[in-house]
Amino acid sequence: MTRNLADQVSEQLPSQHLRVLRTSGQMAAKRGHGIYLVGGVVRDLLLARPSLDIDLVVETDAREFASVLANGLGGSVLRHDRFLTSKFCLDDLDIDIVTARREIYPHPGALPIVEPNTIQEDLRRRDFTINALAIDLRPQTFGLLVDPFNGEEDLMRGLIRILHDESFIDDATRILRAIRYEQRFDFRLETETERLLLQHVPGLRTVGADRLRHELDLILKENEPEKAIVRLGSVNALQAIHPSLVGDGWVAERFREARRVTNTPSPALYYALLFYRLNQEEATHLASYLRLPRSLTRIIVDQARLRQAAPVLEEDLSNSAIYGLLKGCSPTAVLASIIVTESDQVRHKLQLYLSRLRYVKPLLDGNSLQELGVISGPQIGEMLNALLEARLDSRAHTREDEIALVHAWQATEKGVN
Ligand code: ATP
Repeated sequence: MTRNLADQVSEQLPSQHLRVLRTSGQMAAKRGHGIYLVGGVVRDLLLARPSLDIDLVVETDAREFASVLANGLGGSVLRHDRFLTSKFCLDDLDIDIVTARREIYPHPGALPIVEPNTIQEDLRRRDFTINALAIDLRPQTFGLLVDPFNGEEDLMRGLIRILHDESFIDDATRILRAIRYEQRFDFRLETETERLLLQHVPGLRTVGADRLRHELDLILKENEPEKAIVRLGSVNALQAIHPSLVGDGWVAERFREARRVTNTPSPALYYALLFYRLNQEEATHLASYLRLPRSLTRIIVDQARLRQAAPVLEEDLSNSAIYGLLKGCSPTAVLASIIVTESDQVRHKLQLYLSRLRYVKPLLDGNSLQELGVISGPQIGEMLNALLEARLDSRAHTREDEIALVHAWQATEKGVN
């Protein structure tokens, strides 16, 4: 039976999206091309879950079609010539438009060779049956579901199923994707899919750093990423990515704590917690293996520094001493340490630094010091540091307090050491 989802599309998508989809359908039909809504948005419509990422497949050159759309509706187009894709942007709406294609994998882990083709072929290249779904957007057939792999049935049964036995060999990132969807939707892996997944976990080593990181980023953007992390740990997939990565109850509890401490933790904070137990050598190796961006690498390095500082942070310290220990540390690394530490003393000092001390500045600046007669040169920097310490330790509260300190130092001619 042919399934028509026109009502779901009209009721569940925002009106601006709907208007653009209907117009796209009319324009493509006028030119004799097929056009379809595909992937996650179709799956989410069937599950009645909100989904605002719109992906379209056209059975023609997507770059040309996006220009036609922009001429008709306004908006702008970003072309990606190598992948035969375009992004169409109108107000707040971004739509990815892809040329229906066949993909051939020259060898495992390689980027596929792309050839224009039909919607049926396009769905065949996809990861799982629940994502190999499309909805026709042409006016005569608007809303018809294209479901060559019984994806709707798998959705209803809560199953993640690959489309063919070589799927994880072609692209081992699908191992991470399978578990992300399984955990997000509380589904389970279909038996044969699970068997093949377990068999091909070592294939994760063939995946390039950028694609691995992209999939890890997606996992860490989930609402409860610890579910996928623990499951990946249990099938040895994290260890396959890097032997020092562990997905266990410890990480899961820290992830949950991260959500108690900050409402929506950043993926960077989750990365920091995932990498927390690595030693310096492991951290450096992993950072280069995954080609982590500089900001993340810095977090990992700072975490190692914080771990070393922890015993000192147990002691009674002045605010300026706390500041001196933590100065320059990435705030995400400090937050991760707040989540991980078991010491109230340490947590209190880290919180104090994060919420207050790191923002403290002297009220006087270099110019005002010169106006007060301080000779320009290294003395200025030293005096500013001394003023900062005085403010941190509550020995100066107002501008007048700071001026008095400067005068006092000038009078003793000791300056600052
Ligand atoms: P969500 O955004 O809800 O996580 P999505 O389905 O939009 O889900 P994307 O990662 O944006 O996820 O992928 C878009 C679509 O591209 C998927 O639905 C899937 O059909 C296809 N896809 C993405 N990655 C792969 C892959 N590695 N192999 C095959 N198909 C893929």
